Amino acid sequence: MMRAWFAIPLWQRVIAALVLGVLTGWLWGPQAESIKIIGDIFVAFIKMLVVPLIFFSLVAGVASIGDLRKLGSVGWRALLLFVVTGQIAVWLGLALGTFVQPGMGVDTSMIEMGAVPEPNETTWREMLLGMVPQSPVQVMADVNVLPLIIFSMLLGIGILMAKEDGEPVLKIFDSGAIIMQKVTMIVMELTPFGVFALMAWVAGTLGLDALGALGKLVFLNYLGCLLIIGIIYAGMIKFIARLPVIAFFRGIIDPIAVSYSTASSNATLPVTLRAAERNLGISNSVASFVISLGATINMNGTAMYLGLATLFGAQIFGVQLDMGDYILISILGTLGAVGAAGIPGAGLIMMALVFGAVGVPLETIAFVAGVDRIMDMMRTTTNVSGDAAVATTVAALTNEIDRAEMISADDV
Ligand code: ASP
Repeated sequence: MMRAWFAIPLWQRVIAALVLGVLTGWLWGPQAESIKIIGDIFVAFIKMLVVPLIFFSLVAGVASIGDLRKLGSVGWRALLLFVVTGQIAVWLGLALGTFVQPGMGVDTSMIEMGAVPEPNETTWREMLLGMVPQSPVQVMADVNVLPLIIFSMLLGIGILMAKEDGEPVLKIFDSGAIIMQKVTMIVMELTPFGVFALMAWVAGTLGLDALGALGKLVFLNYLGCLLIIGIIYAGMIKFIARLPVIAFFRGIIDPIAVSYSTASSNATLPVTLRAAERNLGISNSVASFVISLGATINMNGTAMYLGLATLFGAQIFGVQLDMGDYILISILGTLGAVGAAGIPGAGLIMMALVFGAVGVPLETIAFVAGVDRIMDMMRTTTNVSGDAAVATTVAALTNEIDRAEMISADDV
């Protein structure tokens, strides 16, 4: 029995769990919440990997890139792709909101109000200061990903600069990175169970009434995300990276399923890293650098949603927006997506930032809160696929990808 279970490739077990989870939740109803704990345990285990995995792989990755010029050439390409795709995403959200007008005719009394999350009070100054890893140990204890990335990169650069003197330490990090990949492999075996439980919980507890009134918004959220994945990412892989699109998507099935069921880019990070290196053939240096950074700052699904949701709120409450407002939304939407943590519901909190700037009432957040999870799942999948797409493209442009491995990876 055990042997038969392990003989099925992991991604097939994960997809089956996803489908079975939805069916179970649908049949079982709200009581499916009782098995959510299995999903929470799974998420807690992958979260356990985040700090040591980023720390070891990123230090080893940066140090083994060889020279600083190469690091720069990977870095600027990744940042450029993050910014360009983020901007396209917000404008797509604005376009969908303008043409389809999802907020027109919404009868707000039909919607059960969710709790409004605490608006994010941090100023940009605090956010900037928060990126500095003042105390590396504290940063690790708090699982604060952005300053951890900065600290790890600096350490990697230090090892590079120390040349021969840095070699013993580099060896430790190289070996640590390999060990963490093995630990990730063990935890990944929990994926089918975690995905099953989380999907059953979502499907079982989804308020269908709220979904009816907010149906257009949910539909547009999915449509926008699918357009980003199917056109922008697929186009990037085909025309810029010049790699087969199907092989790319096949290679990231695990991160797709995990991001969809957990709604957290951070929790998916170890899974994305593993898929990038094992299935897509991306070198450890590019994968660890681009994907860790992308998981916290590259959120195209969230950016698209912020644009769309702002128009939704404006339409419900009759707020007139002009072109200047659109430009402001596009800037704040991308910044909000950069600032959003890779955790469930982060996009919802960031709405306050954009709404406040263009005068859309914050009550809108309460209207959409009830169905946010189901939209969040798709946003997160879009965010995570975007990190993999940018990593693949940058790796292809800098010759850091093993094309043969990507195309032939069949033990995904
Ligand atoms: N949950 C999303 C993520 O982790 C962020 C969001 O809420 O849009 O990528």
